[in-house]
Amino acid sequence: MPVLKLFNTMGRSLQEFVAQNPPSVGFYGCGPTVYNYAHIGNLRTYVFEDILVRTLRRFGFKVTHVMNITDVGHLSGDDDMGEDKMVRSAEERGQTVLQIAQFYTDAFFADTDRLNIVRPTIVCKATDHIQDMIDLIKRIEANGFTYMAGGNLYFDVSKFPHYGELANLKLEELRAGARTKVDENKRNPHDFVLWFTKSKFENQALVWDSPWGRGYPGWHIECSAMSMKYLGENFDIHAGGIDHISVHHTNEIAQSEAATGKPWVRYWLHAEFLVMDNGKMSKSKGDFLTLQSLTDRGFDPIDFRYFCLGGHYRSQLTFSWEGMEQAKASRKSLVERILDLREKAQGKVADVPGGRAKERLDRFDGYLADDLSAPRALAELWQLVKDPEIPPAEALAAAFDMDSVLGLKLSEARREEQTFDPVFAGEIEKLVQERILAKKSKDWAKADAIRTGLKARGITLEDTPAGTIWKKL
Ligand code: AMP
Ligand code: ZN
Repeated sequence: MPVLKLFNTMGRSLQEFVAQNPPSVGFYGCGPTVYNYAHIGNLRTYVFEDILVRTLRRFGFKVTHVMNITDVGHLSGDDDMGEDKMVRSAEERGQTVLQIAQFYTDAFFADTDRLNIVRPTIVCKATDHIQDMIDLIKRIEANGFTYMAGGNLYFDVSKFPHYGELANLKLEELRAGARTKVDENKRNPHDFVLWFTKSKFENQALVWDSPWGRGYPGWHIECSAMSMKYLGENFDIHAGGIDHISVHHTNEIAQSEAATGKPWVRYWLHAEFLVMDNGKMSKSKGDFLTLQSLTDRGFDPIDFRYFCLGGHYRSQLTFSWEGMEQAKASRKSLVERILDLREKAQGKVADVPGGRAKERLDRFDGYLADDLSAPRALAELWQLVKDPEIPPAEALAAAFDMDSVLGLKLSEARREEQTFDPVFAGEIEKLVQERILAKKSKDWAKADAIRTGLKARGITLEDTPAGTIWKKL
């Protein structure tokens, strides 16, 4: 296998990946805050992490993948401001926080299963690890990095000389910068809460006794406590979306290293955002697309996986329905190629691909080794299935081997039934466009008439941030 190189956010450079205790690799990826469905942006990050884990395994590493489930302590502002996301969601839906957490945890794994994302080795809930967090905070306190203010225990970033290294933060500049609302208990705006007590959020549903009073943990401490519990005090890789670089991961590093006095994580990997063609997607504002909204529109979840693989994880990916249509069409023709190869190979799949198939496989591995270049790896799969000089049984063997990382379920490919009459679908599209024009020219009566007409034919319309989508009633 070629040498695996990964782009380390710490130091901002492409680095050879050297495991601490090969072949074992400890990998921690921040999991979801389970107060709502995951949006497709979140899911892009989990698809990226899946490619990472599958690549590491392909390259011979034994990966222990740990993922947390945030079911307490994540406020609507990452800077300790705002409300607890879980509590607000529970209040809005008239359920308990734990009911909400269970419901959205199940929904999350249903989504990741549908995306053929391999489940983590260990999934750990924040509320099951409060004692671990308290024990870690005690160590941070004993080492002199904390202060109490307004009833909360804060981490004092001025005591941690490397604070902000991951994000290239310049504390002095940022301190002077305009921040509108800051928790006034903080000595420095970058200080963060390790433990809240009743002085903030009187109505917090879940509270625990602690040396600092009855209360609940800040958001960041759970990741430090749980990753160290399952992976040890230093481990190989930590990943998440780029939004976590400047606050969440920066604070995780400060508190972990303040507790242990030694370096914590060796490689930091961050996925760029998935954005809508008309701007940002926000889970807390509720205007986002879920995997379900794609399947309602007739896409297979694997079409979305394919769509994600079309962009490098360190580039922003813009979502559009046209892009999804393209992904769907390309995946369909890929599957057709596989089915054709199957027919030609008469059910045979070579044990070990040789010759040109092997060369293509080697190139494929080279692309993965170069900071997980899924788009180039996918292009190589295409070259493979189109290559007339490769015997079908060998091409199939190599394609399935590549799919151990790409996860497109190629070995399960069957000829698809037509689920939607394309003439009817085309007609709907035309009406949707007509309605958009009617709305633009403020012809509300016509827009409504189109909606009503479609409803009578079993189709509903939904206006989403990415445009109007239609689905079967
Ligand atoms: P959350 O559930 O909000 O904690 O987010 C779960 C994961 O999704 C984190 O790793 C975030 O960094 C990531 N994330 C959030 N928004 C996006 C987005 N628009 N595109 C890609 N990843 C995202
Ligand atoms: Zn985290």
